[in-house]
Amino acid sequence: MDNVDSLDQIAAEIKVCTACRLHLGRKNAVPGEGPSNADLMFIGEGPGFHENEQGRPFVGAAGRFLEELLANIDLTREQVFIGNVIKCRPPGNRDPQLDEIQACSAYLERQIQVINPKVIITLGRFSMARFFPKARISAIHGQAKWVQGRLIVPMYHPAAALHQPSLREVVRQDFSRLPQYIVQAQDQSQIQEEPPSDPQQLSMF
Ligand code: URA
Repeated sequence: MDNVDSLDQIAAEIKVCTACRLHLGRKNAVPGEGPSNADLMFIGEGPGFHENEQGRPFVGAAGRFLEELLANIDLTREQVFIGNVIKCRPPGNRDPQLDEIQACSAYLERQIQVINPKVIITLGRFSMARFFPKARISAIHGQAKWVQGRLIVPMYHPAAALHQPSLREVVRQDFSRLPQYIVQAQDQSQIQEEPPSDPQQLSMF
């Protein structure tokens, strides 16, 4: 089975998943989308109203801002993988609950394994918490760290920047560093078979 089949397989399982209560209210599950060999993988929080309608990630206002940020670094959404911590919309767009995140966790891990991205960008605190459970986003946004052999860059959620205009320039600046992180991840994997797994061990700054 090749990578595409594997992403398809995960998506097929997500679409019929009943592992948590969120399946009861969903119109469409949102597995995520993008190439199975993407260099960049973005992980948001979970589907909102529009995503639930369409079964696609980041198709509302936050998605338009994400596309603008990608365009600033000469990328389109088709070139990256865009997914979420949870795959079904919480009622009223409330925060995902711990058991819901846990129920969805294996799907995200399998997606990461299949895609094997050079760089993972977490969007917002729920996806950040998967890699940096105790961190504050205001302290570490935009800074790449190695976690279990992968370069992870926590960023503010695009929706937060839409609600808080002062964050927009911060997010633009954080995004502008991504091309350099891709190169650094590539270089590191060439010179070092096993990059440091301790997040504190190697900061890009
Ligand atoms: N916000 C998210 O975190 N994910 C989406 O897919 C859409 C909005």
